[in-house]
Amino acid sequence: MIPEIVTIAKKKDEKFLRKKAVPFEFKNFTQKEINELVTRMRRIMHEANGVGLSANQIGLEFAVFVAEAPDAQGGMKFYAVFNPKIEKVGKSTITFEEGCLSVPGQWGEVTRAEQIVVSGYNKMGKKVKVKAWGFLARVFQHEIDHLNGKLFVDKAKKLYASEQS
Ligand SMILES: [Zn+2]
Repeated sequence: MIPEIVTIAKKKDEKFLRKKAVPFEFKNFTQKEINELVTRMRRIMHEANGVGLSANQIGLEFAVFVAEAPDAQGGMKFYAVFNPKIEKVGKSTITFEEGCLSVPGQWGEVTRAEQIVVSGYNKMGKKVKVKAWGFLARVFQHEIDHLNGKLFVDKAKKLYASEQS
């Protein structure tokens, strides 16, 4: 367990996770602070062996998430998206197993759109648009749900307990 990660184990923390994130105001932060935030979120995500992390999962109220997914070249591509918004949702869906760093020890199958288009801002405050499909689209939808105060357990058809927790 990573101590910095907020989980549903405590009622007060679950309440925080279920609050909608507030927009990130670039003008209130220096570039150095923004870079440090992204570096910190990336480090915590890696330490927790996660593929995505939203700011409210480390106790921050603003709308930012980080994610990492394999790219077409066989490497890993890292994303940090500020104030993300789902612009388009594809019609086809996929059901797949999901877990969450904030819901330790539980897994469940969640149906999500196979393809989405997300807009938002990168850490430089520049507008970005990402077409995501498959695994990346799933991670993005999971993280954007977090920023809307939703958890995967709300959408999972069936939940399984893992023995490690
Ligand atoms: Zn999660």
